Amino acid sequence: DPAARSFRRVLVKLSGEGLMGDQGYGIDLETVGRVAREIKEVNDTGVELCLVIGGGNIFRGMAQAAKGMDRTSADYMGMLATVMNALAVQNFLEAIGVPTRVQSAIPMDTVCEPFNRRQAVQHLDMGRVVIFAAGTGNPFFTTDTAAALRAVEMNCDALLKATQVDGVYDSDPKTNPGAKRYATLTYGEMLRQDLRVMDTSAIALARDNGIPILVFSLGEAGALGTVLRGAGRYTIIRE
Ligand code: UDP
Repeated sequence: DPAARSFRRVLVKLSGEGLMGDQGYGIDLETVGRVAREIKEVNDTGVELCLVIGGGNIFRGMAQAAKGMDRTSADYMGMLATVMNALAVQNFLEAIGVPTRVQSAIPMDTVCEPFNRRQAVQHLDMGRVVIFAAGTGNPFFTTDTAAALRAVEMNCDALLKATQVDGVYDSDPKTNPGAKRYATLTYGEMLRQDLRVMDTSAIALARDNGIPILVFSLGEAGALGTVLRGAGRYTIIRE
């Protein structure tokens, strides 16, 4: 796909689960180290990188609210979980020489910078990776929507969503061995078929602003770089 090869600035969405390795919960530092090396490889090629990291490995608001907690408080806890993940990834990136800034949608000056678009652009200009933490800063949203929002705000050429599988399938490939993988999909198909890969507000935001979404798996070493060279396996969602 020649489109992928021309990406100069991209936003990569990592789910919290992608940091927990084989553990059922929390942060697996070996996995974080591996993710950091993937990111360094791409950053070294001069592609400008924004990251949005989820928090599902630590706390997911809706799941906890279902057990009786107030939804807004639970969502704030979920957002705080994404800050922990962001600090872990920042730490491992800087340990291998990748200058990184964390910006939080919920200001917490002693821990990281508050979100500031103009400053984030400057960081990218200087070759720094910028990690956007705390989602959108609002309850009732997800980090997928935060990823689409930041991708639009930061004028990214694409949103790359790392998942457990190498693209979008017509049914769950983990339970259905005959599941078919799509090479391309339109935003409309994605919304109509309710393919639960990303929430609808994220897809709508990407569609309204013409940002292609690439769904891929970080399972194999070098996967992110491969996708950005227009190779490997992924599903691209666009008009
Ligand atoms: N969250 C929120 N607003 C946002 C982003 C996230 O309230 O803008 C909360 C929500 O409770 C969510 C949790 O943070 O469940 C963790 O984010 P998410 O579930 O998107 O993480 P992922 O599934 O990507 O690990």
